[in-house]
Amino acid sequence: MPSERDYVTKIWPSSNNTERRLHLAALQKRSLDESKNGDIDENGIVRKNNHMEQQRCISCDASLSGRPRIELDGNVFCYACAKQRVDSEDCVVEKKYAAKLKDYEFYSSKHEKWKEQLKSALPSFDSQATIVAVVAIGMGLLWGGLLFFLGIFAGLVVNTIIVKQKRDKWVQKNPEPNVPPQPLKHLARSRIKQIGGIKGKSLTGSYRTKILKRDNYTCQICREIFPADELEVHHIRPQAKGGKHFSTNLVTLCYRCHIDENWFGHKHKMR
Ligand SMILES: [Zn+2]
Ligand SMILES: [Zn+2]
Ligand SMILES: [Zn+2]
Repeated sequence: MPSERDYVTKIWPSSNNTERRLHLAALQKRSLDESKNGDIDENGIVRKNNHMEQQRCISCDASLSGRPRIELDGNVFCYACAKQRVDSEDCVVEKKYAAKLKDYEFYSSKHEKWKEQLKSALPSFDSQATIVAVVAIGMGLLWGGLLFFLGIFAGLVVNTIIVKQKRDKWVQKNPEPNVPPQPLKHLARSRIKQIGGIKGKSLTGSYRTKILKRDNYTCQICREIFPADELEVHHIRPQAKGGKHFSTNLVTLCYRCHIDENWFGHKHKMR
């Protein structure tokens, strides 16, 4: 006999079936209520270490202990509220400057690409180091050991000249693209700061489930409840930028919102 949960997760066919989704969400909520886990109260809020960080989201009043904390203009928000706040603040100006913003994004990404291409057209660090070493050893062999160090200096000069020539030649062939001035420097999204999430307790084992439970199986961007297999745990500060597996750095997102998430330089792999 399959359990009710098995029936919903495995036997019910389509993952887009709304009825199935709602049923699963209800099941998850029930197991949450039934859980004897003292860390989580009836709202799915973690109550642990409350004495450490007496902070609540200024907008929804949720406890932020053990949860991500985002600062905007001196106020501290939960991830979901910060996201909403930034969207609503930026949305007005973004609409007004939509065309300019689009232009700016287009040309600045072109410029980024140009910089990358230039970098790969120049000799690599290794080959530059080889040039310096060859000149230094050559001078040392010709005029004796003392001049080896003068040779390093000469090598650096030679290398600089070679690199500069190559660069000028490349730039002549591939002129630097113009980037229009950035239309908006005051978007709320440029003022957000993540507080904490660098230090803390690392979550082990079933950390994914812990985070999903803490966030009430709710995507922290679109605020919809999803079955666990449609949710992902996201590192607010990306791992590549030093973000750790700390609960204060982890947040629940649905996979659709995760694809578009770009705070703190996050780039989704599937992009
Ligand atoms: Zn909030
Ligand atoms: Zn979502
Ligand atoms: Zn992510």
